Amino acid sequence: NYPARSVYKLKEIDNRFHIFENGQRVLDLGAAPGSWTLFSAKKVGPEGYVLGVDIQTTETEFPENVTFLQADVFEDSPELMAAMEKHLPYDLIISDMAPKTIGVRFADQANSLELCERAKELIPRRLKVGGHFIVKIFDSSDVKGYTDSLRKMFGKVKNFKPKSSREESIELFIVALGFRGIEG
Ligand code: SAM
Repeated sequence: NYPARSVYKLKEIDNRFHIFENGQRVLDLGAAPGSWTLFSAKKVGPEGYVLGVDIQTTETEFPENVTFLQADVFEDSPELMAAMEKHLPYDLIISDMAPKTIGVRFADQANSLELCERAKELIPRRLKVGGHFIVKIFDSSDVKGYTDSLRKMFGKVKNFKPKSSREESIELFIVALGFRGIEG
């Protein structure tokens, strides 16, 4: 049983793109209440590892291969940096982060993009070459620019709107496969 319905979106992404494998290390950003974390932990198995990070806490109980850390991704707190360093490199960085929506579409989109930019900043030195990056973004005219920036870093980049995402929701997911590593 999963604490949030958002798990279906990750299942759909995995069914389509086959991102998970046994033994992987996963960095899960915006992890509370913990559905993606639990699903990832199951997919990677006891040999794998999942670090879930969220600004909010959660009551969800996780298996032994999970660490859940309450932290703001915009603050480079020593705890967050240390937790991220501990299991390098990651095979997957997944972000379901979303801003608190205020109902002003322009602001919500801008805040979502900032979270996506922050998630992208965490890729170099932390994501394994060949690793994958999945990120939720609120649709806007900025999505193309953001997607294009990922195309320079990854072998293949796709936009994906899960069926389980509510019809009226402006969220979509960018699936970036095959990290090329840091250039230069
Ligand atoms: N994937 C989660 C699951 O399956 O249970 C649901 C994630 S929920 C849609 C989005 C999350 O992003 C919220 O829990 C929110 O607290 C988190 N978030 C928003 N801003 C954040 C930040 N600056 N740092 C860390 N987490 C953040």
